[in-house]
Amino acid sequence: MEDCLFCKIIKGEIPSSKVYEDDMVYAFNDIDPQAPVHILIVPKEHIKSAGEINEDNSKYAARIFEAAAKIAKEKGFEDGFRIVSNCGDIAGQTVKHLHFHLLSGRDFTWPPG
Ligand code: AMP
Ligand code: ZN
Repeated sequence: MEDCLFCKIIKGEIPSSKVYEDDMVYAFNDIDPQAPVHILIVPKEHIKSAGEINEDNSKYAARIFEAAAKIAKEKGFEDGFRIVSNCGDIAGQTVKHLHFHLLSGRDFTWPPG
């Protein structure tokens, strides 16, 4: 996707603060952190949102969750974190490339609002 911010970040055309990378996913620090730890994990394939996950591309979602657990253990916050994916304008999705927010380092309220 030519005009996609996260595709450009994955390709290195826009700088990012990399946290983790493998053949399927890329993780980087959010530019506007909402918690002491705020990492975005994205698939290297352009998938629009969580609403576009299907049997052909769900391997990316699986890998994202594997990466989240790995990052949490490596960084020592495996005891408490939140994973959020905003899907669509109504949920506040501003970048239309599937991403999971991995948040930690403070208490989180429920319901999320
Ligand atoms: P969402 O609002 O759920 O679509 O999440 C998009 C996230 O991308 C927001 O938390 C932004 O702060 C973050 N973001 C936008 N531009 C950048 C960037 N250049 N580098 C890192 N994070 C970004
Ligand atoms: Zn994209």
